[in-house]
Amino acid sequence: MMRESSSKVLLETDRILLAHGSGGELSHELVASLFVKVFTNSFLDPLDDMAVLRLGENRLAFTTDSYVVTPVFFPGGDIGRLAVCGTVNDLAMGGALPLFLSAGFIIEEGFPFASLEKIVISMQKTAVEAGVKIVTGDTKVVNRGGADQIFINTAGIGLIPGGVSISGSLARPRDRILLSGSIGDHGVAILSSREGLQFSTTLESDCAPLNGLVASMLEVSPQIHCLRDPTRGGLSSTLNELARQSGVGIWVEEQRIPIKEEVRGACELLGLDPLILANEGKLVAVVAPEAAAKILQRMQAHPLGKDAAIIGEVQEEPGGKVVLRTSIGSTRLMDMIVGEPLPRIC
Ligand code: MG
Repeated sequence: MMRESSSKVLLETDRILLAHGSGGELSHELVASLFVKVFTNSFLDPLDDMAVLRLGENRLAFTTDSYVVTPVFFPGGDIGRLAVCGTVNDLAMGGALPLFLSAGFIIEEGFPFASLEKIVISMQKTAVEAGVKIVTGDTKVVNRGGADQIFINTAGIGLIPGGVSISGSLARPRDRILLSGSIGDHGVAILSSREGLQFSTTLESDCAPLNGLVASMLEVSPQIHCLRDPTRGGLSSTLNELARQSGVGIWVEEQRIPIKEEVRGACELLGLDPLILANEGKLVAVVAPEAAAKILQRMQAHPLGKDAAIIGEVQEEPGGKVVLRTSIGSTRLMDMIVGEPLPRIC
């Protein structure tokens, strides 16, 4: 139903909509019906967070991402920290050791030099934290109004260790679904800085490099089948992507999903679903059932996984769909978002 309605929207419009950048149904439709159709090749077609390139004996992970978040500075981070974390995390989601990044800047004429400097210093600090080097870059300046303040693109290269085989297509029935911590923090932090919402404690973006957490998970077990960071489109988009890529059903227990009180409150106030809110320092892992307990324990021992939980499991049916068991015991399908409730969240 959902797929039909969204492809209809795509066919009925001859313009790009904000929803084509939401990370939800229309984004996937655009990627499938245009980018993959035209660019098709064996490296792109798996549609994981990064492409796997073979170079002699080695496997490299390669990825790119653009950042257009507004405001540029927000509680817990800024566009520069986000641009480093996002690309590091996409490499880490292939189990890769992130090594090198590029940084491309598109800057609007009149943007304060002091702000640019703050962003660049923040990028370098985050790169050091993640253990990567920014080794090449580009700067363009466009006329006032030609862009909004500053946009950043980063690409990244990493090395995939031997024995690691992680892809969105590898989830198998009985696998457990692990989530590294509370969801919606980034989305609500950005929204609160836009709307001027006040919380009793400062709710900050969770923006963080996840490669250290992934490395420590791989240390205890190689039986990690899928990893994905639930960024744009939130947990619901990520789980739907994994269910479709692997052709399995994903069953999730609503009450096991960690959500902070402030996030719950803000969602009620703004009429938003925390399951579709962006995260920038969380990951979903699909792991073999016999390895789930020790991987969970290792995640909880890491500062970025202290609230990790097993939130569900993989079943054969319903293939390509995500089922949410609610706290009152009923079940419903967890759909990908169709519109774009929160443009420029990352
Ligand atoms: Mg990602």
